[in-house]
Amino acid sequence: MNIQIMTLFPDMIMNGLGTSITGRAMEKGILSVNAVNIRDYAFNKHHSVDDYPYGGGAGMLMQAEPVYQCYKAITDTMEKKPRVLYMSPQGKTFTQDMAEEFAKEDELIFLCGHYEGIDERVLEEIVTDYVSIGDYVLTGGELPAMVMVDAISRLVPGVLHNNVSAEFDSFQDNLLEYPQYSRPEIWHEKQVPPVLLSGHHVNIEKWRREQSIIRTAKNRPDLLKKAELTEKEKILAKSIEL
Ligand code: SAM
Repeated sequence: MNIQIMTLFPDMIMNGLGTSITGRAMEKGILSVNAVNIRDYAFNKHHSVDDYPYGGGAGMLMQAEPVYQCYKAITDTMEKKPRVLYMSPQGKTFTQDMAEEFAKEDELIFLCGHYEGIDERVLEEIVTDYVSIGDYVLTGGELPAMVMVDAISRLVPGVLHNNVSAEFDSFQDNLLEYPQYSRPEIWHEKQVPPVLLSGHHVNIEKWRREQSIIRTAKNRPDLLKKAELTEKEKILAKSIEL
């Protein structure tokens, strides 16, 4: 998967995503991340990319032209224009379903705003998706872009050592993941649930599924409404929610 990130802070992106699992995927060539500096497309001698908003108001706005020229430099040689995701608190809240949808794309472009945001006219011309990471306002789109690239890229085959681990993570099937334990068997007088030591795979799967339902009912009952549950599982969920 090829990812281009339009930003005023390319080092922040490359330092963040160049580390750990995404960094290894980049080294292996499974994932390519290129942070493009919008400032390189500034058209004045001071390389400034922001200006006062018409009509007044607090702060500065990123101008349309440097963003547009940066976009053109990335896409001019591309046959098919990729989706352009604008990081915005006004966008649709990013979810695991959206991560799965974006992970199917071969190319994606992320656009990170700064200051008070970006001139509306260039957004209208290039953006295909407005995406938020939550109902709060950050200083820039770099952290949201990194969050989304991380969530999307771990669904790309080969990025995780073991693709099964993504399959059972929280939000897959609208259930939170079951509790997990590692060695030692007893820690601070707390014993690992005996079923996990039994070697009985059917019972282990049954226990994990129940724990997922119990956890989701306790912590995220809103998710359970979208989960596919058997009649018995619905009764279990109801008993927890009450
Ligand atoms: N004035 C804008 C508004 O009220 O919608 C907020 C601008 S914010 C200070 C600067 C930039 O940070 C935005 O252009 C966007 O790229 C990014 N940003 C801030 N909060 C975000 C969030 N929750 N999700 C995604 N991007 C966000």
